[in-house]
Amino acid sequence: MNIEQTLKDALRELGEIEFLPGLLIVPGAEVFERHADIFSKYAESLEKGLDERSMARFLYLDRSDFNACAFQRSGHQFISINWGVVILLYDLFLRILSSPAALVRIGNPSEEVFLAKHKNLLLNARELPTSENDPFGLAVAPINEARGAYALYLVQIALDFLFMHEHQHVAGGHMFFMEDSPISRISEIENHAWIEDLLTRHVLELEADAAAANFSLGIAMDLKGNAWRIPPGAEDCLATEESRIDAWLFAVMVMFLVMEEAVNRRKARVTHPSPMLRIWLVLSVLWVRNMRFTKPSQLLGFAIKIMREADIAISSVAQRPSTKRFVLEHVSSTVDEHKILLKRRWLEMNPRLEYLAEKYGALCAPLPLVEFFAEA
Ligand SMILES: [Zn+2]
Repeated sequence: MNIEQTLKDALRELGEIEFLPGLLIVPGAEVFERHADIFSKYAESLEKGLDERSMARFLYLDRSDFNACAFQRSGHQFISINWGVVILLYDLFLRILSSPAALVRIGNPSEEVFLAKHKNLLLNARELPTSENDPFGLAVAPINEARGAYALYLVQIALDFLFMHEHQHVAGGHMFFMEDSPISRISEIENHAWIEDLLTRHVLELEADAAAANFSLGIAMDLKGNAWRIPPGAEDCLATEESRIDAWLFAVMVMFLVMEEAVNRRKARVTHPSPMLRIWLVLSVLWVRNMRFTKPSQLLGFAIKIMREADIAISSVAQRPSTKRFVLEHVSSTVDEHKILLKRRWLEMNPRLEYLAEKYGALCAPLPLVEFFAEA
């Protein structure tokens, strides 16, 4: 069966989802093209030497909700990103920077006028007020130029992370982890658990997060060439290494928290580790890359600072009180016990993960990362 027919059949199985054969042909669609392009170049460089069947194929799905998935059929593997998630991440970060209470260290927040229309955490792009001039409904934006540019930078980080997370599910061979019964699909938000064993699923998600953190952090910290994408107006806010790590962690944290919100609102199955564990995993990536921190307590202090900012940002757009949950959950024994179980399972799974990563063109999470994640 050829690849097009395989894809059509797989999409039919996913529930009558329309395949977007190219990119959306509407004004403003260059955002889709730009992100797909950056990502495809990276994927190609990893996939050199792989046979055709093992390669990851990328597509946008014509769905407006906050979701992305990796799926396979007849051995062909696909990464699909809902167009809605791209627009929703733009909307989210533009809203956040429109709030004078959020990220007060960026630009001049006193210029912002935060109106009723800004206060809404949207998780379906169809709810955005689209018009002929504004086909994606991105009607909310910060007034201060530096804050607007900074919001766009955060969107890029979140999308780099999301795309690469999906890529690792494919290129890490995650859907073939169960040798006897390959999984059809791994979605970020799903009603059906394709892997009933949650500990195994959690390790696969963390493994995808580790790859995504490495990739997105690499782009965020790259001072040379086109990879360093600072929107005009945000240069001053992103001039130092420290400011770029702050931005990177903030964007990733906010995305984890919003994904959890999407699961709760849809009453979907809880298939992923808690946002706190996912945050600790990306912090472990920072640690292993040996950036700025000489003691775990410094890393935790940094995480708490950014978590407070993420908490204020989300509570101001979603109009709910801040929670301070990171500090509370970090010290809870439940999280620690789960980390030990995860580490044990991860180490058991590692030989097969390494074998699959080599077969499908990915890099595995290094063992020192697993050690630090479970012990710090
Ligand atoms: Zn995932």
